[in-house]
Amino acid sequence: MTWNTKLVINGKLVAGEGAEITVDSPATGKPILALNQASLVQVDEAVMAARSAFDSGVWADGAERRDVLLRLADLLEAHQEEIGAAIIDEVGTPKNLIAPLQIGVPLAALRYYAAMADRDHTRDLGPDQNSAMPSASIVRQVPVGVVAAITAYNYPVLMMGLKIAPALAAGCTVVVLPSPQAPLATLLFGKLLKEAGVPDGVVNIIVGGADVGAALTEHPEVDKISFTGSVGVGRAVMQQAAKTIKGVVLELGGKSASIILPDADLPSVLGPVHLRYVRNAGQGCASPTRILVHESKMEEFISLSQAFFPSIKVGDPWDEDTVSGPLISEAHRARVEGYVERAVASGGHIVAGGGRPNIDGGWYMNPTLIAGVSNEDEICRDELFGPVGVVLPYRDIEEAITIANDSYLGLAAAIFGPTEDAKRVAAKLRVGSVYINGGGAMRMDAPMGGFKQSGIGREYGEESLREYLEPQHIQWASS
Ligand code: NAD
Repeated sequence: MTWNTKLVINGKLVAGEGAEITVDSPATGKPILALNQASLVQVDEAVMAARSAFDSGVWADGAERRDVLLRLADLLEAHQEEIGAAIIDEVGTPKNLIAPLQIGVPLAALRYYAAMADRDHTRDLGPDQNSAMPSASIVRQVPVGVVAAITAYNYPVLMMGLKIAPALAAGCTVVVLPSPQAPLATLLFGKLLKEAGVPDGVVNIIVGGADVGAALTEHPEVDKISFTGSVGVGRAVMQQAAKTIKGVVLELGGKSASIILPDADLPSVLGPVHLRYVRNAGQGCASPTRILVHESKMEEFISLSQAFFPSIKVGDPWDEDTVSGPLISEAHRARVEGYVERAVASGGHIVAGGGRPNIDGGWYMNPTLIAGVSNEDEICRDELFGPVGVVLPYRDIEEAITIANDSYLGLAAAIFGPTEDAKRVAAKLRVGSVYINGGGAMRMDAPMGGFKQSGIGREYGEESLREYLEPQHIQWASS
């Protein structure tokens, strides 16, 4: 692998001038490489490059934006092996998730939003003759300006694509900040910008930690922030944004429920129920980790789960059969294991899986299913971001809905059972997305985002494009 350790500022690949950071391989626990993060001067340079590019009008032509986005998509597709490999190495994502999610979604995003890049969104309101002052009006939609696009470590290129594709299509310029834990795939993507014909300054990529993130989000020349990450950092980002009153899109954590309706066929839903939250070692925002099972089916569910868990392959992310790879860091695995230990210490028990696999090196843990806890316990309140599910009994469907909604988060939910019954339950859930019987592939045209503290705003769909547009009303007096 030929890595790129250079940032992209104003169309140039430049070495970071800030502190050195090391990117580790979660699968081996060993360093992949070291690079220098952006200095605070370079943060300013990246923002000012985006500002100048925006103000110069170099990105104002919709047809050109469409063509450039399509070329970027073609180049990402052509380089998917290399960029996918970087994601496997730095995130530990199992290989079988690369094509459908880690690369497939940003590819689809670039093409989907390219088709919107030359749309004229202007609404002609026509004359207002009823007033004492006759007038006519149009409402334009203008790009919001310079966007800071900050991504979490777990799906780096996917999240970058979901931010830059609609922002660029809308006519904005961007500064991308990937997680310092997994910046390498994003930096490889940065090498494609020139070839795609992205004008200098339109897309800048910098790397850094909280200090760089704070400098970027507080910068007065950044007009909008699109952030994906934890609730805690999302809160900090909102406070930082408040200093210069800029808008935020926040895609934050989840503690999603998986409701198994009383009439569901347990043997057939068991795989989808468990596989959905153990993939990527549980490091997925919408992972449905609170599994609600009718009390009459609890025993059967647990015994089926015990038979199923040994079939979930944990191990080397490069192995095509691996379902659950390593967690991102030793510290993160210790955090997840701490939740499991405290749940057990306070009366819960591990009913399937548990512990660590017998693998040398790397930050692996086995998928774990816990029973005997209550929805009030911390393991049911906090997002763990690991391959750990809890199973909770319910007496009737109303109680299942109450438990599912009893969370300060509201990102997603899964429901298994007869579709029409499930749709009625879905309508009562306070979450941004509901997937019935596994749902389907990610749809570019359907919005995703959180209720409650899971976030503000939406990604995917036309909703996401609107996050990067400001309405402007132009009214003129008429006779
Ligand atoms: P994180 O919140 O620790 O970090 C996210 C990003 O914020 C990183 O790039 C980090 O460097 C940056 N950052 C840190 N401090 C900052 C600051 N003060 N200002 C600006 N930026 C700052 O999250 P993580 O550990 O990388 O990712 C896991 C979290 O992301 C989970 O909570 C998960 O649910 C969430 N997530 C949400 C979605 C979604 O679509 N809702 C998708 C994926 C991940």
